[in-house]
Amino acid sequence: MSSDNPSALIIGCGVIGTACAHYLVEAGFRVTMIDAQGFGQGCSQANCGLICPSHVLPLAEPGAVWRALFGMLQPNAPLRIKLRLDPQLAAWFLRFAWRCNRRDMLEAGRHRQALLQSSLHLYGELREEVPLDCQWRQRGLLFAYQSEAELERYAETDQLLREYFDEPASRHDGGAVRQIEPALKPGLAGGWYYESDAHLRPEQLLASWRRGLEGRGVKIRENCELRDFAERSGRANSAVTSEGDLAADVFVVATGAWTPQLHRPLGCRVPIQPGKGYSITTSSPKPSPTVPLIFPECKVAVTPFEADFRLGSTMEFAGYDTSLNPQRLELLRRGAERFLEAPYGDEERDRWYGWRPMTFDGLPIIDRSPRFDNVWIAAGHNMLGLSMAPATGKLVAELVTGSPPHVTPEPFRLR
Ligand SMILES: Cc1cc2nc3c(=O)[nH]c(=O)nc-3n(C[C@H](O)[C@H](O)[C@H](O)COP(=O)(O)OP(=O)(O)OC[C@H]3O[C@@H](n4cnc5c(N)ncnc54)[C@H](O)[C@@H]3O)c2cc1C
Repeated sequence: MSSDNPSALIIGCGVIGTACAHYLVEAGFRVTMIDAQGFGQGCSQANCGLICPSHVLPLAEPGAVWRALFGMLQPNAPLRIKLRLDPQLAAWFLRFAWRCNRRDMLEAGRHRQALLQSSLHLYGELREEVPLDCQWRQRGLLFAYQSEAELERYAETDQLLREYFDEPASRHDGGAVRQIEPALKPGLAGGWYYESDAHLRPEQLLASWRRGLEGRGVKIRENCELRDFAERSGRANSAVTSEGDLAADVFVVATGAWTPQLHRPLGCRVPIQPGKGYSITTSSPKPSPTVPLIFPECKVAVTPFEADFRLGSTMEFAGYDTSLNPQRLELLRRGAERFLEAPYGDEERDRWYGWRPMTFDGLPIIDRSPRFDNVWIAAGHNMLGLSMAPATGKLVAELVTGSPPHVTPEPFRLR
């Protein structure tokens, strides 16, 4: 690539920054990436690895406010808000509450679906082209239930997903659910199965994508934190970082849950809250599930990898709290014990937390910053950053180059 090619600096080496780097290289940019920590060490690291087009509906749905309020009173509820005086959180929560109605939920679902479907398709191309070596499997996703009433209640959601999103699940009552996943305990009420969902190992995805990008000349600088932008003639001229100034023609801020902390350089308050989740990775239990599972009654997700096995989830609005809360981790184990013959492996490999970048409406923000027209924001992918990354990266490259966007960008503008 010649030095006449335009240059781009990506701030944030999570899955979103990585996807943006990929599609900007495709568009002919010379790309540098920086990260305040290491490459792929934010929320994209040890998440559940589910690529789930079935997850079209946002968290802001009818009834979600009551569940959140209940969580404030129950330290062990899967959804928990730590009570504190925080005007940003209060404003976020009010806007969230306002969106907890059927109309807004369906509207957000339509826009989320566009990114989810496109990303599933693009992963197919990327796996061949990069190539991505990430234990990709397309074995679907099974929601398993203990209670008949909860299994039955999901029929309403299934009907809605069929009607509005053409995203049907198949229902399996009683013992039939063990024909899909024999590692489940006998005696469950049943489950709902989404055939086209996939899963991968996120750490491996990031490592192999990094190799692919470096092979195409992308420079990666770790432990390099963005502090501000230096301006010339009304445009950002260089990024002011902990390691000195870095000049570029275009800047993409893909800093996930940290993005609100950059309100001064960006010239706006970005309505994102860190939604903390946890995971535990162990050796594979015996018997190990082969199909990824979600237990909605306790909000625990199970992802089987080639040699390892991961339990993940729970949602905690506790600000930028860096503690690894043993009680929240225990919830994962207890949830798995209710549903699996062998709920985890003998050897524990890792305990982890990540801050999901949560927006009040469940939609990511993919837009120009109001301060500089050559600074772009790609953040706020909620619980689905992995599932939406390729389409986000492609859309960013299209917006930057002024090419026709492959998904409608308006819903993802700064709100
Ligand atoms: C328990 C759990 C399970 C999950 N499971 C799934 C799943 O199965 N499927 C799915 O699709 N999604 C899942 N998610 C959500 C997904 O992990 C996130 O949506 C996604 O990782 C967000 O990616 P990102 O690149 O925006 O942010 P991150 O990966 O957090 O990357 C942001 C990067 O920006 C860097 N940064 C921040 N500030 C600065 C600065 N000033 N200068 C330089 N760098 C900076 C950070 O160091 C970080 O590396 C899960 C999340 C959790 C917590």
